[in-house]
Amino acid sequence: MQFTPSYIELYEKGELKLRAEKAFEAYRNCNVCPHHCRVDRFTSELGTCLSGVDPVVSSYTLHFGEEPVISGTKGAGNIFFGNCNLKCIFCQNYEISQNYKEEEKHIVSIEKLAGIMIELQEKGAHNIGLVSPTHFVPSILKSLLIAAEKGLKIPIIYNSNGYDSVEMLKLLDGVVDIYLPDIKYGRDEYGRKYSNGENYFTFAKEAVKEMYRQTGNILQIEDGIARRGLIIRHLVLPNDLSETGEVFKFISEELGRDVHLSLMSQYYPVHRAFKEILLNRKLREREYEKALELLDKYGLHKGWVQELDSFEHYRPDFTGDRENPFGNK
Ligand code: SF4
Repeated sequence: MQFTPSYIELYEKGELKLRAEKAFEAYRNCNVCPHHCRVDRFTSELGTCLSGVDPVVSSYTLHFGEEPVISGTKGAGNIFFGNCNLKCIFCQNYEISQNYKEEEKHIVSIEKLAGIMIELQEKGAHNIGLVSPTHFVPSILKSLLIAAEKGLKIPIIYNSNGYDSVEMLKLLDGVVDIYLPDIKYGRDEYGRKYSNGENYFTFAKEAVKEMYRQTGNILQIEDGIARRGLIIRHLVLPNDLSETGEVFKFISEELGRDVHLSLMSQYYPVHRAFKEILLNRKLREREYEKALELLDKYGLHKGWVQELDSFEHYRPDFTGDRENPFGNK
């Protein structure tokens, strides 16, 4: 039996339209993410994400480098949104996330974004992977409405940095099939210092709890492809600036040991990380081993663990061919 994403039913009932309209109102006095900038994004006022209403689509492509249940054999249909709401000094996608003047060239209409979703489906994508979507959730909902009308029927993945607003996430209940958030830091202070995200851990915990409430702890997999559920990503940082133990403690104690976790070792210094003495090197073997020991300590055994040398394979390049930033053959 073919899997039917839940947004189809919301679309047919007219609920998706109502959600999109409600979300759009949040742009007027923007509280779309925890920065709560209160700017009017229908005007030229800019908040921390430096974005208006029309989405910045920096790139879209079939992507084969995600977790196996996301990429499958045909690839995830990833849409990379530009101008992130966080400003991580070590961002591996900094060419699109913190370069808003350049990304102005990649602003598209809501109709065009809907067309991109359909195009990715026609290319055979297993899903639509919304990468860094947080600051454009209302626009994405409007695009999804148009795309559903045009026959979109593959699952939606919400791949965010974890700095999400619970109010917006509630509007995504039944719209998103798979949540794929980061929890970047287990300490608020580090989120502020390295990503310009005030109270990052506090907000990320609430956001992930809401995602978990919507999807539960079962990762539904059919024919080797994830259809519904939650996968939390955690990138281990040098000098334990990710506070990995606190992140795992939260997952284990407040969500449960059955949650799927994707542990990443792919850190390497880029962007402004070269200037930060605690972040200007890649991860050491002992640091990663310690993170693996913490997985055991907190009983988190579901999910994926990257090899330590994986940093060599995850080097997107958005300066050249935007259709192929990962060099897919
Ligand atoms: S989405 Fe952008 S403008 Fe709105 S609160 Fe977040 S950073 Fe500020």
